[in-house]
Amino acid sequence: MTDSYDIAVIGGGIMGCSTALRLAEGGMWPIVLDQGDLGQGASGVNAGTLSLQIKRVKLMPYALRGHRAWEAMGDAIGFRKTGGYTLAFTDGEAELLQERQTLKSEAGAPIEFVTRKALREAAPNLSHKIIAASYCAADGYANSSLTGQYYRGRLRDAGIAYRERCGAMAVRREAGRFAVETPAGTMHARRLLLAAGAWLKPVAAFLGVELPVRVRINTVSVTERMPPLIHHIVGHATGLLTMKQKPNGTVLIGGGWQGRGTPQEGRGEVTAETVAPNLALAQFALTPLKEARILRSWTGFEANVPDFYPLAGPLPGIEDAFVLGCVRGGYTIGPFIGSLMGDLILGREPELPLFDPGRDFDED
Ligand SMILES: Cc1cc2nc3c(=O)[nH]c(=O)nc-3n(C[C@H](O)[C@H](O)[C@H](O)COP(=O)(O)OP(=O)(O)OC[C@H]3O[C@@H](n4cnc5c(N)ncnc54)[C@H](O)[C@@H]3O)c2cc1C
Repeated sequence: MTDSYDIAVIGGGIMGCSTALRLAEGGMWPIVLDQGDLGQGASGVNAGTLSLQIKRVKLMPYALRGHRAWEAMGDAIGFRKTGGYTLAFTDGEAELLQERQTLKSEAGAPIEFVTRKALREAAPNLSHKIIAASYCAADGYANSSLTGQYYRGRLRDAGIAYRERCGAMAVRREAGRFAVETPAGTMHARRLLLAAGAWLKPVAAFLGVELPVRVRINTVSVTERMPPLIHHIVGHATGLLTMKQKPNGTVLIGGGWQGRGTPQEGRGEVTAETVAPNLALAQFALTPLKEARILRSWTGFEANVPDFYPLAGPLPGIEDAFVLGCVRGGYTIGPFIGSLMGDLILGREPELPLFDPGRDFDED
């Protein structure tokens, strides 16, 4: 096997893998390197919710196209288009729901407001304390635990080189190309894409670049198998709940509640103070969940920057190096923004603008 490529992609999550696929389609020869297994980071432990109702308005065109990409990926990654409800229990939440979902619908998401009667008929197990709800027929979910297996197959089919348990330990610019030090030796490439998720900051530091990347430690929980309770995905007006029942009967519960830990330590910790209110909100929304036992709760690291928009473009100050990450709702948007990133690197005009990693970062 050669050690010289057109581009080295550091990070084999959804961002790195989807970009590599586009690059190979465009005739480049990439290698994808991951410090663990492909899809072992956020892309493999997330809640799998593909909901337009929880996307930022400015990212809606990306999320809409992301949804199309998911439909094409289909069963192989557990994609299900179920439609989704977002719920409000108080007047304040109903106002928030109205305000947020109206903006998202104006941005192109097929979101409508539904009456309580219609909701009761479509989803009879949801709480009777709901006072307002919105519905989006395009919403659904995928099975994030299949991400690594899915992309491994796609990379293999496309003839793309990848190395697992082969993390970048250092990167140098040397005679017009990059030298990436790994446990398997030095890989050389003319270009570089940093797609290392929550590990972007230390990876960019190899090249002396300081990225303002911060990390959230999101928690997800899963119940034992339950009889059929709900067909649709379910969210809450505040964004503090996402829920779906899988075909095997288990119910997956998330909502961005924070655990403890750092990516450098390798794994995060779940805390009772945040899991308890997350589960209480789930049980309040879907009453029969009171009978369910929780089998497992876990955490994953999600990267962001101060304005909560993606880093997607050239790495500031380093010719031929690029960065892709910090995409809010990144599982949904990943397959599409990866193809945009690929187009940029191939020298093609991307269908939608990317997000300059060298911009000023003001808090939103
Ligand atoms: C718990 C949780 C729940 C979420 N729920 C949702 C959801 O329901 N819907 C949604 O749309 N989004 C969700 N997200 C966000 C989404 O998962 C992320 O935005 C997306 O997966 C990020 O993809 P990525 O490829 O940038 O990062 P990752 O998937 O983390 O990939 C980065 C990869 O880089 C590798 N790496 C790091 N350092 C190195 C190195 N030195 N050398 C080589 N490889 C390296 C890591 O091992 C990792 O595999 C959630 C996130 C979390 C954490």
